[in-house]
Amino acid sequence: MSTEFVEGWEMLHTLGEGAFGEVKLLLNKVSGDAVAMKIVDLVKNANVTTSIKKEIAIHKKLNHPHIIKVYGNRKEQGVEYIFLEYASGGELFDRIEPDIGMKPQDAQKYFRHLISGVEYLHSLGIVHRDIKPENLLLDEHDNLKITDFGMATIFRMNGKDRMLDKQCGTLPYVAPEVLSGKQYHGEPADIWSCGVVLVAMLGGELPWDSPTNHCEDYVSWKECGITKQPWCKIENLALSILRRILNHSPPRRYKVSEIKQHQWFTKQFKDQGTPVKLPGTPLKKKIKLNRDSTGREEAILACSQPVHCDRTNQNHCDELQDRTSIGKKQVGLCSFSQPTNPEHMLLTSQCLGTQTQSGSNQTPLHRLVKRMTRCIMNTDFDKTRKELERLLDLFGYTWRECPQGTFTISCKDIRKMDLTFKANAMSLNGVSVLLDFRLSHGCGIDFKRHFLKIRGKLKPFISEVPMTWSLADATNTIP
Ligand code: ATP
Ligand code: MG
Repeated sequence: MSTEFVEGWEMLHTLGEGAFGEVKLLLNKVSGDAVAMKIVDLVKNANVTTSIKKEIAIHKKLNHPHIIKVYGNRKEQGVEYIFLEYASGGELFDRIEPDIGMKPQDAQKYFRHLISGVEYLHSLGIVHRDIKPENLLLDEHDNLKITDFGMATIFRMNGKDRMLDKQCGTLPYVAPEVLSGKQYHGEPADIWSCGVVLVAMLGGELPWDSPTNHCEDYVSWKECGITKQPWCKIENLALSILRRILNHSPPRRYKVSEIKQHQWFTKQFKDQGTPVKLPGTPLKKKIKLNRDSTGREEAILACSQPVHCDRTNQNHCDELQDRTSIGKKQVGLCSFSQPTNPEHMLLTSQCLGTQTQSGSNQTPLHRLVKRMTRCIMNTDFDKTRKELERLLDLFGYTWRECPQGTFTISCKDIRKMDLTFKANAMSLNGVSVLLDFRLSHGCGIDFKRHFLKIRGKLKPFISEVPMTWSLADATNTIP
């Protein structure tokens, strides 16, 4: 069930999970505007109080087309709420076909977006330190957006660089010098992680567990071994840029300016990339960042139908914004537009009839989420649950079902790291069931491998009715 979070704002389903909390979708009931809300319980995770402050302070400085925007934050009863631009296109890993990757022209597009965002970050003296496909989101136009500044830090202040020493990041993506125990420069470390993301996009797998001399795959790469997977599926020009990015020596590693001049980066592919399938008319929301008298940026949500910009809406948005935010205050001025496109109610009209399960006719409560890890079952709710239970046992997963229809599934991934994902069974019309899989924790690419394995076995029960990615979530049925 959805719940009203602040007057006029409905809290809908979970978009994702992180180490210290969840990210939920918030929807303005009048305007249809969507905001992602990251929730961090500071009572349960007292040790993150300082780091979350830093994350917010850094993230609030940023205003770039390839970085998720922060609208504001607020702290209430020991819980920190961070309001973020909603990325309806899902996560980058969802576009990576395990062991295959994606079309090189798509990879080039996303890589250009990534480098543009990283260049901007570095120009402000900020390093991200946890670049990986799980932290790269996509908007409705398939633009890549960097998020999760939980590991970010400032490496340049008043024009002076400082060395970093905190060992952080995610092992397969982290640069070798970060693990060396010595001090390291921030910029080359981020560039390295971008290189590993590019390998994942082009080859559908990660090249090594960690870039250390104990890791055979890594040693082989250092010694020019490109005959093995994933290198042998990557064409020469792409390998050439990867060689220069994934250079063990930070000073010799390509800089952003060099990446941007490399032939693979600049080349025009003959074939177009995968066309963007838009889930109907996107929300007509423009975010302008103005500067207030102190030079601080203020977020203005400017929309196509200012008629909705009444005081009530203004107040609602203000309530979401933090009035005591770190540093100088961020002021939010909001106006709204109605998401009028009927495709926004796809699930209502095609699957649920005109009524949602709660019996309400509140159609704007259906949002489109572009996710490939789903299937529609032609079995009813109980049969679907039973079949899934049987398969989870067959494959030897550790799992629990709580509440009914929500499965939390755990196992070790290909690199013996913990992997947890969720499967939600949602009855659509009493006859068919939407089975929605979502990563909770661990490697996104390996999560997709597991999804494909489970889906393969579910095939006899999967509806032949073509299901497009634009199927909306039945928001009031997702726990
Ligand atoms: P971790 O540190 O474990 O990586 P975290 O607690 O810092 O996670 P995020 O990475 O910011 O949390 O978010 C977790 C997940 O929530 C993302 O991987 C993504 O699936 C989803 N998510 C986060 N922000 C948004 C957003 N703005 N729009 C849509 N989904 C989002
Ligand atoms: Mg994350």
